[in-house]
Amino acid sequence: MITNPNNGKFELLTLPYAEDALAPVISAETIRFHHGKHLQAYVNNLNAALPGTPLENLPLEEVVVKAEGGMRNNAGQTLNHNLYFLQFAPKPAKSAPSGLLAAAIDRDFGSVNNFMTEFVQKGVSLFGSGWVWLADDDQGKLQITQETNAGNPLQRGLHPLLTFDVWEHAYYLDYQNRRADHLKDLFTILDWTVIENRYAEVLK
Ligand code: MN
Repeated sequence: MITNPNNGKFELLTLPYAEDALAPVISAETIRFHHGKHLQAYVNNLNAALPGTPLENLPLEEVVVKAEGGMRNNAGQTLNHNLYFLQFAPKPAKSAPSGLLAAAIDRDFGSVNNFMTEFVQKGVSLFGSGWVWLADDDQGKLQITQETNAGNPLQRGLHPLLTFDVWEHAYYLDYQNRRADHLKDLFTILDWTVIENRYAEVLK
């Protein structure tokens, strides 16, 4: 779903859960707009812009790093939303990290609770639209980064592991202006297995 199928076209991510499965943290109505309208539009805009460019047959991750202007925004939003939607589960297999990821979080943030508090705070203090990320740098250190608009840590050489969308379209129907409450509640549907698998890929 992330890798370009090599025909120059990306496809809308198929959600691995029913549209009402994440309620009340993310309602079916929000899923219908966020996945069915917003993400679909980013994918369509990206597919319309790619043909005839040198980036046409590259994997999405490379397009995100190499594209400029509107194509960079639409590629970024496509990748960011794929990573975002795939992290959640109605009944997460793991509600807390373990193993190497847990050890790295303890090392770099003191504890998982400290990490979650700081992550929510960074999401709340991001002015306007954007994304808060947990990313791994090339020294193997975990960082929380704030990226505005369609930004992705790949664009500064970091490896993205976890992300919360702080655009208002992600939460306004369900939480109105209560961004902090929404971000805290997202941790209740976060499947840490997904984040551990991403971390294992980075460590390879
Ligand atoms: Mn979004």
